[in-house]
Amino acid sequence: MTKVILIVLDGLRYDAARSCLGYMEGLVQAGMAEVRKLTCELPAMSRPLYETLLTGRRPVEHGIVSNGVVRRSEGDNLFARCRASGKVTAAAAYHWVSELYVSCPFDRHRDRILVNGDGDIMHGVFYWDDHYPDSHLFADADWLISSHSPDFLLLHPMNVDDAGHRHGGDSVGYRNAARVQGDLLARHLPGWLALGYKVIVTADHGMGDDGNHAGPTPQETQVCLPFIQRHVELVNPDVLVTLGNPSTQALLGTREGIMRTRGKWIDYDTGTRTIRAVATFHPAYLLRSPSYKRLSWQDLRAIAKVLQQTTAS
Ligand SMILES: [Zn+2]
Repeated sequence: MTKVILIVLDGLRYDAARSCLGYMEGLVQAGMAEVRKLTCELPAMSRPLYETLLTGRRPVEHGIVSNGVVRRSEGDNLFARCRASGKVTAAAAYHWVSELYVSCPFDRHRDRILVNGDGDIMHGVFYWDDHYPDSHLFADADWLISSHSPDFLLLHPMNVDDAGHRHGGDSVGYRNAARVQGDLLARHLPGWLALGYKVIVTADHGMGDDGNHAGPTPQETQVCLPFIQRHVELVNPDVLVTLGNPSTQALLGTREGIMRTRGKWIDYDTGTRTIRAVATFHPAYLLRSPSYKRLSWQDLRAIAKVLQQTTAS
C-alpha cells in the first residue's frame, strides 16, 4: 500500500523552485526524483487552486472562483476518496483547507487542532497567520505522522507566498524564503521517505514580480512538480542491507532487535519487484563492541555470495 505526502508550497513559482531548492535539485540530479513544469488553472489564486489540487476540477467547474467564495467543497475530493477506501487522512494546512473539507466558517478555538474527526480529513493542524512559521508547520506534520500514520497527508506551508506579497516575486526576500523552504524539505524528507512515503511537491500558483498573483502570466502560473519515489525503488538494487536497529525496523517492518534479525534473508518489495534483504550490525556498534566483528564478517560473506549468484544468473 502506497502512502503519500502532498506538499503544496504556497506561492512558489517555477524559476524560484528550480533555483532555490538545493536538496530537491540534488535528488533530481541523482535520478531519485523527477521534476515537471506545470501551469496552474485560473484564476491563479489560493482558495480556488486548493480546491483544484484536491478535486481535479478547474475553478470554473468547481465554483470556488475567488478567495472570497467561502464554503465547503462540494462533490468528490481526494480526502473523501481515501476515507471511502478505509485510509487515514491528515492535513497540516492553512485554515482555508479546513473550511473546504472540515468545517466552515473556521473557528479558531474549535478547529485549530483536529483529532479523530469523522469528516474527510481525520486529523489536522490548521493555522491562520500567513507568517505562521513553516518550521513549526513541518513539525506539526511530523506529529501527525508519528501519532496517526496517515496514508494521505497534505502539508501546506505559507511563508514563501507571504514573502512574495511583501517583497515581490523577483526579489531577494522571496528567493530567501524559498531557500528556507528548501532547507526544511532537506531536514524532513529523508525521514519521511525512510518510512515509505511517496512525496509529491508542488505549488498552488506562482508569484508576479509586483508581489501579487491572479492572472495568466508565466510568473503567476508556472509551478514545479517534483515526484520523489521511494529511494529503494529508484536505486533498484539486487540486495538490500540494513545496518543496525533503526533502519532494519523501519525498512524490514520488524520490531525485533538486531541480534535476532541479523543474517536472516527476507523478501523486500521495492514497489516494482521483490529483492532479497538482510540486516547486520551498524558500524558504530562494531566500534563499541569489536567482538561482534566476527558475526558481521559472516554476514558480509553471505551477502557477497548472494550478490555473486545474482550477477551470475
Ligand atoms: Zn496561494
